[in-house]
Amino acid sequence: MPDSLIAGVRCSEVLAELSDFLDGQLEMARTETLQAHVIKCDACERFGADVRAALDLLRETGTPEPLPDDVSKRLAECLRAL
Ligand SMILES: [Zn+2]
Repeated sequence: MPDSLIAGVRCSEVLAELSDFLDGQLEMARTETLQAHVIKCDACERFGADVRAALDLLRETGTPEPLPDDVSKRLAECLRAL
C-alpha cells in the first residue's frame, strides 16, 4: 500500500496527526491540508467515510467527537500497513 503524497502530506503524516486533527488541535491551515488529503486519497478513502463523518460532526458542532473504538483501531491498523 503506497504512502501517498496528496495535498502535500503523506498518509503516515495524516496518521501521526490524526488524533490532534480530529480533536481540532491543529492550526486551521493544517486541518484543511489533512482534510484535503483524506478526501482525495484512495488509501484513506477506505476509512474516509468514518473520518469524514467525524470531521463533519466536528465542523457542525465545533465539538471534538472521538471515533468509535473499532473505527480508530481499524484506521490505525490500516495506516500501519502502509
Ligand atoms: Zn492517505
